Amino acid sequence: MTYEILIYGHPALRRKAAPVVNVNRDIVRLAEDLLNTMRRAKGLGLAASQVGRPEAVCVIEIPAELDARGGKRENPDVYMPLVLINPELVDARGTQVGQEGCLSFPEIFIELERPYEVTVSYSDLEGRRTQVAGRGLLARAILHEMEHLAGVLLVDHMSPVQKLSAAPRLKKLKKEARHRLPKDVVARRTSCR
Ligand SMILES: [Zn+2]
Repeated sequence: MTYEILIYGHPALRRKAAPVVNVNRDIVRLAEDLLNTMRRAKGLGLAASQVGRPEAVCVIEIPAELDARGGKRENPDVYMPLVLINPELVDARGTQVGQEGCLSFPEIFIELERPYEVTVSYSDLEGRRTQVAGRGLLARAILHEMEHLAGVLLVDHMSPVQKLSAAPRLKKLKKEARHRLPKDVVARRTSCR
């Protein structure tokens, strides 16, 4: 199955993910559904929080043609797709600057500095703790998805100038997301103001 991807303004995007205790069939199924949802949306990564699921699970798939620098593969040894369960940052090195987008922020891209290379530990679909080192776009995707699991979003990285130029679009997304919320959530949020 595929999920609906939550758009900026939905409160679930701000929740911190809960660590997965058992990598059971439900988690394997969740990973498959996240992959299907990500591929349908033509994204490079997706976190469980983006579909309203609380588990610390994210998926990443960088196509070979995008995993290149100067005609050479950056991550020839990394098997795709990557399913990261309970990921933790081990190390980050270097810097890269590039455009970054997010399926929860349609049509918004910002220039963002990130480490060039990261090492993360995570549990795989068999529940084994392992590590992966990613460079370039893969490193960017890993960091982006891990931030989702901490409730951190693209908008949090925007400079005041970037925020200003994206403001009309952000406002529109928030308004649209609000219309999609269940009525009781809207009522509660309105009454909190
Ligand atoms: Zn995202």
